[in-house]
Amino acid sequence: MENQESYFYFLDIWKNVMEILFVLSIVAASLLVFAYWINYKSKKTLKQKFDLASEYEIKILRSSQFLIAFAIFFIINSRLNDIVIISIIWFTIRMFMALCFATLHGYVAHLIFTYYYPGKIRARLARLRHTPRINPKTGNKMKLLSEAEEDAYLDEGMQAEENVFSVDYDVWIDEATGDTQIEKYKGHLNAHECDNCGFQTLRLVKEEVAKEATAFWDGTLNQEFNCSYCGRIKRKIVTLSYKVKDGVTSTSKLIANPLAINLEVDTIKVEIHSNKGDINIFDFQNLDQAKKFLSEFDYEKIQP
Ligand SMILES: [Zn+2]
Repeated sequence: MENQESYFYFLDIWKNVMEILFVLSIVAASLLVFAYWINYKSKKTLKQKFDLASEYEIKILRSSQFLIAFAIFFIINSRLNDIVIISIIWFTIRMFMALCFATLHGYVAHLIFTYYYPGKIRARLARLRHTPRINPKTGNKMKLLSEAEEDAYLDEGMQAEENVFSVDYDVWIDEATGDTQIEKYKGHLNAHECDNCGFQTLRLVKEEVAKEATAFWDGTLNQEFNCSYCGRIKRKIVTLSYKVKDGVTSTSKLIANPLAINLEVDTIKVEIHSNKGDINIFDFQNLDQAKKFLSEFDYEKIQP
């Protein structure tokens, strides 16, 4: 039977191609992880390691697992040949099985890297960020300044950036010589509680000044949050106060009420997010109460 012979011939080629693709995907997955590891190890400072890991580690590991899923698809498609040889139906069944196993692996990997791994990497990132820096000039251990102490070492632009954007500056000081080292971190690594699904998975993904504040007019800042669990997208417009006074908390600088001239305002809700992800909500009956609260606001006081 000529037909059957060409089927055998096809199976033979198919098996070889699948085995080659299997090896290629395993090699690609390993190279990807290896290249990342080499890159990570070659970073000289903890800050550089932090930046690399926070930006790429999850993406790299996830991609490598997707390549492994392909490898699973290829290897299953090259096995069980004594059954597949009976009829093309078995060839189709094998293909379907391979697809199921590969999808399962890819899906489990996706879940792990979306919900489990971020918590694990966060602990390591915190260590990278808070391990005492060494002054390269003297070899002394440096000390991390607190939020209150660090302002003296940040220029005005940096301070404004810290107040307005989700940016954090860490200032390390060598107490013996006074040498400082300033590191910049993005605040959007902190997740907030999602008001849709309730998980701590709502993250700031975009932040831009829509209108610059001038000496006379308020500006506006657009923020976009995205929940990695339920997919909720939350947009928030923050008013940039035109007059930024010293001694005013960053929160009150940020929150100005757009309802100020509306006499029919019934309730004013103030939501305060800490950089640890805690959210406190306060209700007020009128703007004056809210203003008074904000002008006297001290985050320490509302801590349990
Ligand atoms: Zn959600």
